[in-house]
Amino acid sequence: MFELPKLPFNKLEAILNSLPGGVYVLQNDQVLFFNKTFCELVGFPEEEVRNNNLDDLLNLTPHGRENAREIYKKVQAGELEEHVWDNPLIRPDGETVILWGRVSRFECVDGFGVMITLQDITRRRSAEKEAEEQARMFRLIGESSSDFIYVHDRKSRITYVSPAVEKISGYPPEEWGQTVPKWVVEGPGMEHAREATRLAIQTGKKQPAYTVQIKRKNGTPGWLEVNEAPYLSGEEVAGIVGVGRDITDRLQTEEELKALNKKLEIRNRSLTQANQEMEAFIYTVSHDLKAPLVTLHGMTDRLISKSSDKLDDREKHYLERISVNVTRLEDLVLDLLKLSRIGRIEDSKENFEITDSLRESLDEADELIRTSGLKIEVDSVMGMTHFSSKRLRQVFTNLITNAAKYSDPQRQPVLKISAIEKDGWWHIEMRDNGRGIDPKFHEKIFQAFQRPGSLKSDEGTGIGLAVVKRIIEFNEGRVWVTSEQGIGSVFHFTIPKAVN
Ligand code: ADP
Repeated sequence: MFELPKLPFNKLEAILNSLPGGVYVLQNDQVLFFNKTFCELVGFPEEEVRNNNLDDLLNLTPHGRENAREIYKKVQAGELEEHVWDNPLIRPDGETVILWGRVSRFECVDGFGVMITLQDITRRRSAEKEAEEQARMFRLIGESSSDFIYVHDRKSRITYVSPAVEKISGYPPEEWGQTVPKWVVEGPGMEHAREATRLAIQTGKKQPAYTVQIKRKNGTPGWLEVNEAPYLSGEEVAGIVGVGRDITDRLQTEEELKALNKKLEIRNRSLTQANQEMEAFIYTVSHDLKAPLVTLHGMTDRLISKSSDKLDDREKHYLERISVNVTRLEDLVLDLLKLSRIGRIEDSKENFEITDSLRESLDEADELIRTSGLKIEVDSVMGMTHFSSKRLRQVFTNLITNAAKYSDPQRQPVLKISAIEKDGWWHIEMRDNGRGIDPKFHEKIFQAFQRPGSLKSDEGTGIGLAVVKRIIEFNEGRVWVTSEQGIGSVFHFTIPKAVN
């Protein structure tokens, strides 16, 4: 309580005018004083504040007026020392402000007076509202997240844990208490976790995610991936917001995958070994068979040329049959040797023009091309490849000879060769108008010794396409066929573009 009139009025007026809040003083229902801030807060000029009553200045509703009058009476009568309120006020200019007000009674020489003080708390209110909304939003995020979110202060006192913690650990948020519970603390990786938290608080910087093992309520171990970020209060780090993600299933799947991969690796290794042994065996057998076959071939030929006049027709026929079959066996062994050599010896690769290789193949197959009447059309300019030129020649030769061998006698055989470039690879197409291949054999013809759809009169060992496939796939390319019976076939393969 203070005694207003004891101060000289001009001094008092100066003090009250310099206050940041609004002041309005009544004595015996008469306006004794109001300051400039009061006028600004209620939005009326000084003149109108003086001539209007308080109800109008504060824009009170009829119900509000009644209330205000009650309070005023009580304060005046000494039944109520003071009354505090905060309400929105619509100013005459239409702006809404929230005013905090206090009505209090004071004693003065002539009796009692009533003082009303006002403060604009619009900003504070909206800041509080914003903070409340943010807190609500944060809780909503916490409640709807399948990861669990927690907040702790600088001293690791927990202030919030989201409900997901129960699903992850078996412990409901209430059982977390004020400090980090034992089930988390004792797991492996916790030393690292503590250090990360300490650093985040010390530096104010987010630390890299870490993994901790926990012991769940049901006794089983679980793994969490934790991301922690410091939060500030002013300039100071006030604590940590952390997100724990349950990665138990992921880790278990990764472990299972690792074990499976290991098994596959072992199996692969033994398969590769078996393959290598098989190839070495084929190589040795075909290599060792070559010499006796060459001798046999030479001797049968000599026998035919030197002693044929001493043999009767039947014996001659037998000898010729032996010669044909020996030649066939020889071809087979030579082809087998070719196949087993691919990949056994690393071919040296170089950059060269695809057409150079193609030209050499055309020379190589020249006789067959001429006798079969095969017309070759190379319909696009081909670029450079990085490959073994010897092997590419082998690929072209095998495919060209097949186009000549498996042509359709009803029409002039034509082979169109083209190349397009895509994603660092050349896609080569060899399109013939031959007899075509039944779709059910499209895969099979690339296997060694498979000659499905071949006629008895067709010459071959069934190894040509297996050689093509091996060469292309050994260089990480692809080879396949598209074909329609009676129309023709297209053999496709990819080889890498030249490297700088
Ligand atoms: P070969 O020509 O010695 O039989 P390949 O491995 O080169 O062995 O071919 C396997 C089989 O694929 C051939 O026997 C033939 O039936 C079929 N084939 C290959 N190329 C063609 C083609 N251009 N047109 C039709 N059939 C083909």
